[in-house]
Amino acid sequence: MKMNYENDIKECIQCGSCTAHCDFLQKYGLYYSPENLAQLKKLAFHCFLCGECTRHCPKGIDGKKIMQEIRIEQADQNKGQPAVRGFEGMLAEKADYLYKNYRHAGKGSALFMGCNFPAYFPHTARKISALYKEVYDIGTIYECCGKPVMELGVKKAADHSVESIRKRLQERGVTELIMVCPNCYSYLKDRLDIRIVTIYEKIKELGAGKMLEAKGVRIFQPCPDRTGGEWLTQLQGFFRHQPKLIEDVQCCGLGGCAKAAEPDIAAGFAKKIQKQNEGPLYTYCASCAGNLSKNNCGHIRHVLPEILGFQEEEADIWNNGKNRKESKNW
Ligand code: SF4
Ligand code: SF4
Repeated sequence: MKMNYENDIKECIQCGSCTAHCDFLQKYGLYYSPENLAQLKKLAFHCFLCGECTRHCPKGIDGKKIMQEIRIEQADQNKGQPAVRGFEGMLAEKADYLYKNYRHAGKGSALFMGCNFPAYFPHTARKISALYKEVYDIGTIYECCGKPVMELGVKKAADHSVESIRKRLQERGVTELIMVCPNCYSYLKDRLDIRIVTIYEKIKELGAGKMLEAKGVRIFQPCPDRTGGEWLTQLQGFFRHQPKLIEDVQCCGLGGCAKAAEPDIAAGFAKKIQKQNEGPLYTYCASCAGNLSKNNCGHIRHVLPEILGFQEEEADIWNNGKNRKESKNW
């Protein structure tokens, strides 16, 4: 059966714009055209699924979606398992998230922590959870949204994961999710039929949070927020002096599970940031903060602890696995 993307790539005019904006496509001299399809399929797990090619294609060819569809197709042909090895542990943990914790969630609003924010910023996660419960009677959910499972191409398990989240929310009467992670937000906002807001939107709505006074701030925008920019727009209200966006780094290196296949490209993203060591560096994604720290991008902070006035400047890259496990019992 012909897949939709086979028709989409017929529109390619070989302008090279996608290639110019992607280290992976550059390395292999590729763009999204029919003559490159066989090679793109072979290299589907070398793509970071960052969407930079999509944003720069004048013909609207969605490279990220194509690579995601190829991965799903390959898993379907591989008895529902990812087409590459090495992700068995991740799948075992996240397909039916081992460390899910709904015990603090009740009727109404709930904070949705995702899996990486509590792993890298455990003190902030616990403090904000306690604060929101005490002051606003808002509960907390520790859960993986299922995006990493979908990125491996295992659509059936990823869909099942969303279904199980929906069921749990319904059982508890949760009517609004406050997202702490932009990945969870982008993945779940069109998959669940309840109100989904960002943590920054909620902080503003509640009249909480403090202004950040630092000057010359650089900000690393996580991939899922680069098309809509909703998180960035909401965040800018918390900066006294407008931050400067880091523009020439397509991904933190964690996206699309591609760093196993392309470790040098993944590490290169952090190096590019490290070279422009010009002012305080922030991000608003725990996965980006953790991965860029691991790859020595320089001192990178998460915006959330600072806005809330909590002292947790750096991602806990040494205990992230342990923290994630422990969040099951927080
Ligand atoms: S999604 Fe990102 S890594 Fe993949 S081809 Fe497009 S720009 Fe390159
Ligand atoms: S940007 Fe679009 S049209 Fe240009 S080479 Fe890439 S896929 Fe083809």
